[in-house]
This record gives sequence, C-alpha cells and structure tokens, in this order.
Amino acid sequence: MGLSVSQLKELVKQLGMPAFTGGQIAKWLYDKHVKSIDEMTNLSKANRERLAEDFCVGAMEPLHCQRSVDGTVKYLFPVRCSEFADSAENGDNKAQKFVETVFIPDGDRGTLCVSSQVGCKMNCLFCQTGKQGFEGSLTAADILNQIYSLPERELLTNIVFMGQGEPMDNLDSVLQVTNLLTSPDGYAWSPKRITVSSVGVKSKLKRFLDESECHVAISMHSPLHEQRLSLMPAEKAMPIAETVELLKQYDFTHQRRCSFEYICFGGLNDSLTHAKEIIKLVEGLECRVNLIRFHEIPDVDLPSANEARMEQLRDYLTQHGVFTTIRASRGQDIFAACGLLSTAQKSQQS
Ligand code: SF4
Repeated sequence: MGLSVSQLKELVKQLGMPAFTGGQIAKWLYDKHVKSIDEMTNLSKANRERLAEDFCVGAMEPLHCQRSVDGTVKYLFPVRCSEFADSAENGDNKAQKFVETVFIPDGDRGTLCVSSQVGCKMNCLFCQTGKQGFEGSLTAADILNQIYSLPERELLTNIVFMGQGEPMDNLDSVLQVTNLLTSPDGYAWSPKRITVSSVGVKSKLKRFLDESECHVAISMHSPLHEQRLSLMPAEKAMPIAETVELLKQYDFTHQRRCSFEYICFGGLNDSLTHAKEIIKLVEGLECRVNLIRFHEIPDVDLPSANEARMEQLRDYLTQHGVFTTIRASRGQDIFAACGLLSTAQKSQQS
C-alpha cells in the first residue's frame, strides 16, 4: 500500500512477473481495499505466494476511537514510520507509535483530517502535538492507511492534511499520497477535494505549490512578526510576509484555493490592529481566512476565544474584501486539541 502503479509494475517485474500484474495489484488495493495478498484472486496462486514471501498489503486497523455527540470520530492509528523503524533495529525506540485521525461528518460531506508525522518539530505554543517533540515522519503507507483502513472510508468527500505534524516536513510522502489520491490509477479524486496545510517551510512550500494542484492552507494565527514568532517558532525561518509573497506568485483565482487558518485567542490576536494588518498582508492575493476558536488545553497558558471579538474580526475582514468564516467547533467533547489522545496513549505505554 502507498506505491504508485508504476512503482508496483517495477516491483513485480523485478520478481519476474509481467508488468500488468502491477496494475492488477493497484486495483485490488485502491479500488477494493483488500487486506491480504491472498484476496487478489486474479493473480495466479504462484504469484500470490511469491509476493507474500516478501510483502504484505500493510493495512492496519485503528486501535482506539472516541466518538463525539456531534458524530465526529477520532481514531488512533498505529504507524510504522521509516525513521524509527531504523532505530528499532538498533534496539531503541521500540514502543509502538500512533497518530490521530479525525473523521468529521457534516450533512453529505465527510472530511478526514490526517496526520503526516508522529509529533512535530514546529513546536507551536498552542499545540499539544508540538509538546510531544518529534518522533518520526510517516511513510506514504502510514499516511494512506488512515484512509484505507478508515471504517467510514466510503463516506469521505474531503481530506485535509491538518492532523499531527507539518506536511512540508514530510513532503515526499505527502506528495506520494496526494498523487495516489488524484491519479486515475489510484483513487481518481479531484485535487479540489484535498487541502494541505503548512506553517510555511522554505523551499518545501514552493515545491509543493509547483508539484501539486491541491488546495493550500497556511497557519497564520497573527499577521505581526513578533507575536507570530512568540506563538510559532517557524516564523523565524519563514516569516508570514515571505510566505504570502511566495503565494502571490501562484494562481488561486480558478480551481485552486488558498486559505489562512487563524486560531483566535481572546484579546490577544483579535483586535482591529490585527484585522488591518491581515488586510494589508494579503492584499492582491485571492484567499480566504478561517477563524478557529481556541479552547483551553492542559499546559497551555493562552486565553480561549472571545466570541464577540471573533465575530467583529470576521465582519471587519469580510467588509474589507477578505472573505472570512468562523469554523464550527466539532468534537469538542472528545478532543480539546489534536495530540491529546496520542499523548494519553503514550503515557499509558511508558
Ligand atoms: S500546530 Fe501543527 S505545525 Fe504547529 S506544532 Fe502542532 S502539529 Fe506542528
């Protein structure tokens, strides 16, 4: 799982099988979602046995789930991770790793928020995942398994890379998966159904914009350099002003969408000054702003969102030409913040 059709064809050729077997395997994987090689019944028994000597499908069921009263479901998926697979061979870091994946049903929409890393290097002040530190980057199979093995897979309409980790910090695997999801030989989804988020990582963001047609969502959280730096250390390497300049070189007027995620901390980043600075910053860029309520989480000393100030911010931005929405809070009873479930699982293990 996670290999493209051409990679599968190459692989079977190396095993002495005809290239079209790779295409058959892709169909069993990405169309039928089989769990074992033995289920690939149009492959000869000899070929199935040969494949099973060295390979497996790689599907792994979620280990745990929490259901919200509003229908949101948060899953804990086991992952292999290339980086800690190596260290496990050396005898350390043997504990099983997990990531969180959140399914959010909303009428006829079903959105899945997938993770791309275990932990994260970015260390954003408001994020539980950042506090876990960085443990490894997911392989393409680890990322895809969150979709492949999702009980609600057939209900999915959209995928957002907004779970644990910074997608640009694991760009090869993320692109491998987005390419599979949009390839006619894979899931054949429109890139308009996929959004990849980032804090802004130099050169990687540019590569993503050049090589993918998926939507992009940038975590802004403050238009002011000093304040953003205090919330997000990533501002140092790639200031938001530089990120916006890069985005302005791309076309977001047709199929592709550019949005900014903006977590509101009551009285901290929701003033008129902030509104004016956001307008100045994004001038000339076709984009939208999504305001997100901050709800208090353990060990994070930041104020919860102030509803009235957030609405004022939304209205001011929209009246001044920056289309702004307030994102509905979902699954509040099961996850105050991304990272809490895997942190709990981790401390249970240790
Ligand atoms: S908010 Fe995203 S980028 Fe920042 S630490 Fe958390 S997972 Fe990493």
